[in-house]
Amino acid sequence: MTRVFNFSAGPAAIPTEVLEKARDELLDYDGSGMSIMEHSHRGTFYEKVHAQAKALVRSLLNLSDEYEILFLQGGASLQFSMLPMNFLTPDRSADYVLTGQWSVLAHREAALLGSARKVASSEDTGFDQIPELKMSDFDPGAEYIHITSNNTIYGTQYQSFPDTGDVPLACDMSSDIMSRAMDIRPFAMIYAGAQKNLGPAGLALVIIRRQWLDRANTGLPSMLAYHSHVAKDSRYNTPPTFGIYMMRNVLLWISEMGGLEAMGKRNAEKAGLLYRTIDDSVGFYTGCARRESRSSMNVTFRLPNVDLEKLFVSEANEAGLMNLKGYRSVGGIRASIYNALGLDAVRALADFMKRFVKEKG
Ligand SMILES: *Cc1c(COP(=O)(O)O)cnc(C)c1O
Repeated sequence: MTRVFNFSAGPAAIPTEVLEKARDELLDYDGSGMSIMEHSHRGTFYEKVHAQAKALVRSLLNLSDEYEILFLQGGASLQFSMLPMNFLTPDRSADYVLTGQWSVLAHREAALLGSARKVASSEDTGFDQIPELKMSDFDPGAEYIHITSNNTIYGTQYQSFPDTGDVPLACDMSSDIMSRAMDIRPFAMIYAGAQKNLGPAGLALVIIRRQWLDRANTGLPSMLAYHSHVAKDSRYNTPPTFGIYMMRNVLLWISEMGGLEAMGKRNAEKAGLLYRTIDDSVGFYTGCARRESRSSMNVTFRLPNVDLEKLFVSEANEAGLMNLKGYRSVGGIRASIYNALGLDAVRALADFMKRFVKEKG
């Protein structure tokens, strides 16, 4: 068996150790004679996994008791709707910063449900940067401000977060959660689909400040109300138990690797190597994102023409470097280098890129 280097943007690579652990425990979890996915979501075996997953989220992100942690279904996309559904009213509007397709979709969902203002956008320049944001850009009366910390498709990432004063800040962190140490306190809400940095698809991690939850709308359908899930510790109905078990294992792995500080260092080193390779190629490779907005998770670049890009992707595939094709609407090359990808994978890609310039440049 050979495992390839998988640069997919999502569902993305999962640490091999995590998959091996799941394989070893698949038929008989902890001596119980059954798989964790066959256990009751209210039984003691699963209960422990659930509690440990929450405890790991809390400790890795250094979350105080002011925050609730939820494991929900519907991916990040359902949060695009749940967030405005729970917090907008006819006289409360929200501000959205548009930095890519995912934030555009988040804004669109909010606009279906209430009033959602576009605050700033980098669409004019093909979402190649995170716009500069000042407190005066925001509506001080907004119910919340929504941002997307890492723009998976374009390869841009906030290097620092805007000061939104007393207005709750909500953030889609699907593609960079747990990738670096950060101060969570400025955020009233964070959500992330699991399939980039946390585990298999089918699960979303949602973190919300309790105080803000007190303002959430009531009278919503139960499955769409944060209140229902908080009241039942994410087991209002049957949660995606296997996904949560896998996420617990990924979080344990992060913890064993040294936590978010170590992840951040490793990710910076990985991204640095690829950006250096791009910058040193004297114009053969061109980075898509402006330097000051470059993502450490999704490295996007172009080659001199589309034919060379096609050749790059196919030769990379043959070399065991998979899923490097850019997002369908933007083209080019995208190397997604989430937590699970090691320096070995990134070195292999950088070496391949250098060889490719020598041969074709
Ligand atoms: C992948 C992604 C999404 C969509 O996630 P789903 O779980 O498929 O709904 C949303 N936002 C960002 C930033 C993403 O990278």
